[in-house]
Amino acid sequence: MKKFLLTLLTIICLGCSLLFVGCGDNGANNDDQIKQVYYTYVAYAESNGETPMSYEDWLASIKGEKGDKGDKGDKGDTGATGQDGTNGLDGKDGVGIKSVEFDEEGRLVITLTNDTVLPAIEMPKIEEHIHDYGDWLVFTVDEDIPCENRMFYRVCKDCSEIQLKKGSYEDHDFENVYTTDDSSHWIKCNNCIEKKDKAEHIPDDSGYCTTCDAMVHATVGIIYDKSADGTYAEVVGYEGTAKRVIIAEEYENLPVKSIYNEAFSSKDITSIVIPDSITNIGYAAFAQCDYLNTVIMGSGVESISRFAFYWCFQLQKVYYNGTIDQWAEIDFNYNNSDHGNPLSYADEFYINNILVTEVKLTTASKISDAAFYGYNLLTKVEMSDCVKSIGSFAFSGCNNLTSVTIGDSVTSVGDYAFYGCGSLTSVYYKGTAEDWDNISIENYNSTLTNATRYYYVENETDIPNDGDNYWHYIDGVPTAWVKD
Ligand SMILES: [Zn+2]
Ligand SMILES: [Zn+2]
Ligand SMILES: [Zn+2]
Repeated sequence: MKKFLLTLLTIICLGCSLLFVGCGDNGANNDDQIKQVYYTYVAYAESNGETPMSYEDWLASIKGEKGDKGDKGDKGDTGATGQDGTNGLDGKDGVGIKSVEFDEEGRLVITLTNDTVLPAIEMPKIEEHIHDYGDWLVFTVDEDIPCENRMFYRVCKDCSEIQLKKGSYEDHDFENVYTTDDSSHWIKCNNCIEKKDKAEHIPDDSGYCTTCDAMVHATVGIIYDKSADGTYAEVVGYEGTAKRVIIAEEYENLPVKSIYNEAFSSKDITSIVIPDSITNIGYAAFAQCDYLNTVIMGSGVESISRFAFYWCFQLQKVYYNGTIDQWAEIDFNYNNSDHGNPLSYADEFYINNILVTEVKLTTASKISDAAFYGYNLLTKVEMSDCVKSIGSFAFSGCNNLTSVTIGDSVTSVGDYAFYGCGSLTSVYYKGTAEDWDNISIENYNSTLTNATRYYYVENETDIPNDGDNYWHYIDGVPTAWVKD
């Protein structure tokens, strides 16, 4: 009850300042003004999901609020206020508002019909000016109430005058993008449950909805075949016309697990969606796709054959649905610098739609040959102790890579693993100098061996005085110990 009355008091003050202070509009009939304040209250109560009081009860509640609280009414205790609300019902018996006037000091004076004069209300002093209103704001953000049924207000930045208005359709804050489900799309309001432009998806041959661009079905024109043993299906070719291509997850109730050799080679497609069901991408499957810009790769891929993305010079973005640890273990079929990794052509690599600039491995037991071959945005790599081997060409050509953390379980580093990593300055190694010497580091890794190498020491007091460099973690970040 107290909360309600406080709310009511607030709304009355809003109303008063709107009606009596605003811009010289003092001529209206008092009853009409009071009624307008009442309507403001009704709209506010409804927008809060409350049942508004009748006009009489409301008038009475004003009396109860003002009359019993007196000058220092704000400090009235909860219980008394609640009771007064009930007492206020006596207002039905004839106590209403007789007049609303300003006294000589500019305070608002309300006289009741029983000639009780309520304590004068101080009004803000206003000078003539053009109001500079802020944005329209809403009293409530309960999304069940449509924006057009809410009360909005805005406040003059100079004099704090408040304007009120009931909402309208224009007050919806519609998003710029569609929201979708499997069958339809719509535009939602950020503030309420209103949806506009809801309709079923209408896909074209590509399988994308022509309105919202959602993926609705696989692209028309992909040729599938059953595997020799009849346990899965594979993509063998493409005769469609759509440039953006979505591969199906199933074909005749069999999982589509493989993209056959050269299935899309030299096609003028611009993007490819490889579903999670695919485990293998065949030899030269997308080779010389001169317009291929975007690859969306499922999490099931275990092996990408040589030349799979060979000469895809327009390839810009690779979106991967798996984890970075899964990626590190994919077999890219490195062989004399031929491999299947699209990152050697792509500029940007995304996992969970986040651009990858640092690699932090937690579960991978190896880093495959060519796993990050030529990925220029990579600046930092942290391996957990799970990693046992770093493959050939794993980070070759990552010319912005500056720091690498290597676990003490690593036993081998393949040739060219860090070839061309010209920015590599710091190697944080979890083991000792003796452990490091036992790692089998193949040829062409001078960027790794010439970088400043730090050995791990947890406590400063344990740092050996042997001229080597040591590191520890500060807030999870490998940091060199600075010797005193
Ligand atoms: Zn103003
Ligand atoms: Zn809305
Ligand atoms: Zn759609």
